[in-house]
Amino acid sequence: MSGARVIGKMKVYGYGTKSKEDELVPVTFERGELRDGEVAIQITHCGVCHSDLHQAKNDWGNTIYPCVPGHEIAGVVTEVGPGVTRYAKGDRVGVGCMVNSCQECDSCEKDEEQYCSGPKSCTLTYNGPKNPDGSNTYGGYSTDIIVREEFVLRVPDEIEQDKVGPILCAGITVYAPMKHFELKEGQTLGVAGIGGLGHMAVKLGKALGAKVVAFTRNEDKKEEILAMGADEVVISTDEEQMNDAAGSLDMLINTIPVAHDIAPYIQLMRPNSHLVIVGNMDSFPEFSPGPLVFNRISLSGSLIGGIADTQEVLVLCAKHGIAPATKLVSIDAINEVYEELANGGGQDFRHVIDLDTLRKLEEDSQLEATELPSPERGDLAKAS
Ligand code: NDP
Ligand code: ZN
Repeated sequence: MSGARVIGKMKVYGYGTKSKEDELVPVTFERGELRDGEVAIQITHCGVCHSDLHQAKNDWGNTIYPCVPGHEIAGVVTEVGPGVTRYAKGDRVGVGCMVNSCQECDSCEKDEEQYCSGPKSCTLTYNGPKNPDGSNTYGGYSTDIIVREEFVLRVPDEIEQDKVGPILCAGITVYAPMKHFELKEGQTLGVAGIGGLGHMAVKLGKALGAKVVAFTRNEDKKEEILAMGADEVVISTDEEQMNDAAGSLDMLINTIPVAHDIAPYIQLMRPNSHLVIVGNMDSFPEFSPGPLVFNRISLSGSLIGGIADTQEVLVLCAKHGIAPATKLVSIDAINEVYEELANGGGQDFRHVIDLDTLRKLEEDSQLEATELPSPERGDLAKAS
């Protein structure tokens, strides 16, 4: 059955950038043919993660251009390839940060595909494999995508279509460390930086029965964060408030996206607690391990989450009525959204692109789209 052609070549429109100096502009490319075990998805919505901005601007030094970001994808199945058993045309589905992995290393066997140690490690939804070999993938700022079925998520009926995407990166990224480091009912969870990831951590922490303390620089977000369920809001730039919270946390999820002084956050931790970094991948310039040693505090990092856990967090959100706080935007507002994120985020927690706005621009012949080379989407390691 290998190589069966089902829908022919798929022409797709999107938004992408060809260098870190450029803004995102309309693009067009071919997704290629639907292969065995793959699912074609019309994208309805895509969340805007701060990682999209880091990647578009090459903040991590690993961007492969052209870059078409987007890994908080909600859509509807338009076609399935031969051998697909889990999905059918018309299903509401999601795609998160990964579209492929080797499926057979220790990490993949443990449902932690994000730590895949196969030859290419996991294939990210955009910006290709983590160990770039020159191939590239294009993400969800686009009209359609093709993904092997193991990396497609089923959307519970209770979750509205525009609320799906942010669960698939922001949600799983903060849920995974809560699960792995065993956040327990009654424990105190701190969350630093209350943007896309942070506000989902507040909601998920409450759903798991923790007391949640939110650390934000933005006094204006305080009421909304309390309304999300946070037990307390501490203004992180207020030294007195930070000192009052010293020694109070069993776990802290730090989502701050830039290099910053970690010392005031270490000071918040109890003995035997976990301080988990998910945001800053740059440096902690003034880092001193002494306070960790004296209280047996673990300093850890955590990367997104596996597919099974992502499905689990979707179900958890459905069960607890958790929805991200989103602002729906048109695709041609993306550069303004990036500016807002680069400036530390305003009052919004998560922007979500309505991809119908892209289809409309195309239908109205208002897109002057640059043609891009076709993206990769990885080998089908276990294709029948
Ligand atoms: P957002 O921009 O939505 O939120 C980040 C929050 O951090 C802001 O709302 C703000 O919160 C605070 N913040 C922003 N700038 C600064 C600054 N200069 N100094 C101090 N605090 C600041 O980003 P996301 O939630 O989408 O992503 C957060 C980080 O996590 C990014 O770096 C992203 O790349 C990373 N990430 C990591 C993943 C992983 O697997 N580890 C997965 C996904 C994202 P406030 O106003 O409340 O202070
Ligand atoms: Zn993300």
